Amino acid sequence: MAEIKRIGVIGAGLMGSGIAQVAAQAGFNVVMRDVEDKFLERGFSSIKKSLNLLLEKGKITRAQMEAALGKIKGTLSLEEAGRDADIIIEAAPENLGLKKKLFKELDEICPPPSILATNTSSLSITEISTATRRPDKVIGMHFASPVPVMRGVEIIRGLETSDATVQLVEELSKKLGKEFFIAKDFPGFCLNRMFPLFINEAFYVLMEGVSKAEDIDTGVRLNLRHPMGPLELADFVGLDTILFILEYLHREIGDRYRPCPLLKKLVLGGHLGIKTGKGVYDYTASVKKSRVL
Ligand code: NAD
Repeated sequence: MAEIKRIGVIGAGLMGSGIAQVAAQAGFNVVMRDVEDKFLERGFSSIKKSLNLLLEKGKITRAQMEAALGKIKGTLSLEEAGRDADIIIEAAPENLGLKKKLFKELDEICPPPSILATNTSSLSITEISTATRRPDKVIGMHFASPVPVMRGVEIIRGLETSDATVQLVEELSKKLGKEFFIAKDFPGFCLNRMFPLFINEAFYVLMEGVSKAEDIDTGVRLNLRHPMGPLELADFVGLDTILFILEYLHREIGDRYRPCPLLKKLVLGGHLGIKTGKGVYDYTASVKKSRVL
């Protein structure tokens, strides 16, 4: 295949809808598949909300917004999403059995030259590729949330991913307005291997009383020049998600990923961050402030 023209997106959730949006804005025809109408509707409504924000900020015109919306077709049929796609970008839930089943079915449906990409955050690309007869065309394309805003995409090579597949996905990433970076298929890939350690250590610094939450976040923002401190970021991502990643890396890599007891306690108490109103910080008060933990 010389060039990617048509994109099939599997899953219309947080990531799938974002991927469909940036692909449509870049001029690609997109077929987005989910399993129930209500999930497709939710996906389209978040795409409209995101495009509306861009319109209000003057970043796109109404004509561009309508053109992008006109390029996305929603479907409940995997066959329809796959049969003409040059690439599939799968963003279904993080479940190995589900992803392997989808890749096996997509391998039957999609034209032989098509690329099958997964947006998995943690599962092995190599293992997913074994469900297909084309492991050379299976690759990780790991976007960050929110997809229309975040500038990078992590491209992950499975054991048998070919150079030609990597090159086509690099070109596609650029056309989607993203910069890319490459990782091999090891647990956590590149970014999810490094950043959980930093966040975990921030919880230890808080638990041991070395610094207050605000001081930890302020220090990192000011002198490491991160846009958010590690504890604010943990609240934003969800403390349950951070704990899940740490536990996975602890099992796969070893002791240095052992989750901080304070992080575990907050998750056990249902204090998951912004989504539950309380995490390291209390979002139910009129002014965001850290809690005495
Ligand atoms: P989500 O729960 O928001 O969306 C998943 C969607 O997939 C849902 O709408 C669900 O109905 C749909 N779905 C379920 N089974 C399906 C099937 N068989 N076919 C098609 N659609 C199906 O999840 P998400 O946050 O968008 O995550 C999707 C993937 O992206 C996961 O693998 C996740 O690890 C990865 N990821 C998530 C983030 C993040 O910040 N949320 C970041 C990077 C990567």
